[in-house]
Amino acid sequence: MSTTLTLIQGDITEQTVDAVVNAANSSLLGGGGVDGAIHRRGGPDILDACRALRAGHYGRGLPTGQAVATTAGRLPARWVIHTVGPVHSSTEDRSALLASCYTESLRAAAQLGARTVAFPAISTGVYRWPLADAARTAVATVRAALATTPDAFDEIRFVVFDDRARTAYEAALAED
Ligand code: ADP
Repeated sequence: MSTTLTLIQGDITEQTVDAVVNAANSSLLGGGGVDGAIHRRGGPDILDACRALRAGHYGRGLPTGQAVATTAGRLPARWVIHTVGPVHSSTEDRSALLASCYTESLRAAAQLGARTVAFPAISTGVYRWPLADAARTAVATVRAALATTPDAFDEIRFVVFDDRARTAYEAALAED
């Protein structure tokens, strides 16, 4: 069975999916944007799980481009997959790190057995990545990952907040 790519304009914390990806920061201890919304709506169990990660394997935090899963607490999902996007730089190409957020999140999701995964537009908020480029990277990277794991997922859902992001993703999805 092939995987459906979908685009939704809305709030990522309201998605009924197996796994919700969080645009986290490396501290794993919460922040603004998607991260703040996930912890607010998901409740304290997510933060407890993140603190446990910091006390264990991720003592120095989660490196940029990597992904790790926790409970989803009270969100209508089974897991939150935390990934740390790169801050955009005009002097250094960090796009491999942005792509890595998508591949590593999908790898974590597949390991858990998640069949539906919702992604926010990683790095396009506080981390200032230009939307059109971020959308192209997101879509192309997910497509490439799915080509190597055609049976792992039923749906990958891109969830964007505003009209500008929706337009950018529509354009990226229309490219082959
Ligand atoms: P980053 O730090 O990786 O840039 P942000 O959370 O600041 O992440 O923003 C990532 C993107 O998610 C932005 O485009 C922002 O508009 C959008 N966003 C913020 N809150 C939500 C939400 N609750 N649901 C979906 N998208 C959101």
